[in-house]
Amino acid sequence: MNKLLIVGTVAFDAIETPFGKTDKILGGAATYISLAASQFNVESAIVSVVGGDFPEGYLEMLNSKNINTTGIEIVKDGKTFFWSGKYHNDLNTRDTLITDLNVLADFNPKVPENFENPEFLMLGNLHPAVQMAVIKQIPKRPKLVVLDTMNFWMDNTWDELIEVISKVDVITINDEEARQLSGEYSLVRAAQKIHKMGPKYVVIKKGEHGALLFNNGDIFFAPALPLEDVFDPTGAGDTFAGGFIGYLASTHDISFNNMKRAIIYGSNLASFCVEKFGTRRMEDLTEKEVQERLRDFKELTQFEIELN
Ligand code: AMP
Repeated sequence: MNKLLIVGTVAFDAIETPFGKTDKILGGAATYISLAASQFNVESAIVSVVGGDFPEGYLEMLNSKNINTTGIEIVKDGKTFFWSGKYHNDLNTRDTLITDLNVLADFNPKVPENFENPEFLMLGNLHPAVQMAVIKQIPKRPKLVVLDTMNFWMDNTWDELIEVISKVDVITINDEEARQLSGEYSLVRAAQKIHKMGPKYVVIKKGEHGALLFNNGDIFFAPALPLEDVFDPTGAGDTFAGGFIGYLASTHDISFNNMKRAIIYGSNLASFCVEKFGTRRMEDLTEKEVQERLRDFKELTQFEIELN
């Protein structure tokens, strides 16, 4: 079975959407990524840090999905990373209200035993210096390295971010972040500029408007599934990334054609994530539900057309 190492935040989130408000619930980029990847036949482990305030039950839930959490350091007298956000009425945009780095501020990541040489490495959203420190701990270059990041790190740690971006194969970011990173409004031009920074593949997420995959001259687009109920978009981007790399790791195939399928799997899983607050929907998601929705996805995107 292929090994997938996931780096990212394991967090407390407080979320407000037009449909309600939550107090501190389980969140974090690595949490969502690992839950999505657990839908595939891969052996995965998380590298992250939490404080003494982090409930043991959350780790047990991840373990019950075969996610190795021995690389999640627990700082007994520290506080877990905390993020709070409020969504606008369109649910596609949000304001970050609070980002408390807490134990993440001086975290030295340690790759867990048995994961020193993962075939797949997912550098989820967190401090780029931590992402870099993990790359440096892996002696043999993984088959594929995917990086996800956000505007917070562009605003606060630009140079370190640019350095880590130069080391990866795939970057996944949303449209606004792609514009900020490249200084280009057109997403096609933005992707061209980002290619020059290092990544051969650029994935641009557009929330409810789908996702684009760029590989030099080639472009692929997948829509997001139109849903009746969207309660909380938090973690959709990470779930997408987890589905993307989880599928690639389980199929051992990193060709452009297989990446197209990975984009569909990622979009499909993200469509579940938004149906309930926090990680709830991803925690009880079944293989049957995933397959049924994939069928809907296929129907939504297929058409016959005569070309002259
Ligand atoms: P997404 O909605 O996919 O962008 O991911 C939301 C998740 O990212 C939340 O669960 C947060 O805990 C986490 N998050 C928010 N801000 C940051 C940040 N600056 N670095 C790392 N993770 C973050």
